[in-house]
Amino acid sequence: MAVPKKKTSKSRSRRRHSAYLKEQVRRLKKRLSLGTCADCGAAKLNHHVCKECGKYNGKQILDKSKEIDKITTIKA
Ligand SMILES: [Zn+2]
Repeated sequence: MAVPKKKTSKSRSRRRHSAYLKEQVRRLKKRLSLGTCADCGAAKLNHHVCKECGKYNGKQILDKSKEIDKITTIKA
């Protein structure tokens, strides 16, 4: 087995691992087909309506103004 001549420095190994992480994120994004919304810039699934602003391909699909806020408290 080959034996490394020098200890790998923290910076070197961290740089390498950051590259792995970046690649993993890229692959996951590809698999999920995640993109960014052209209108609000939020992360969204490609070929889906944006859940943040309710737009698809520049057109307003979901009416966000009529959306009811989640009920968290019970008013007696
Ligand atoms: Zn959006």
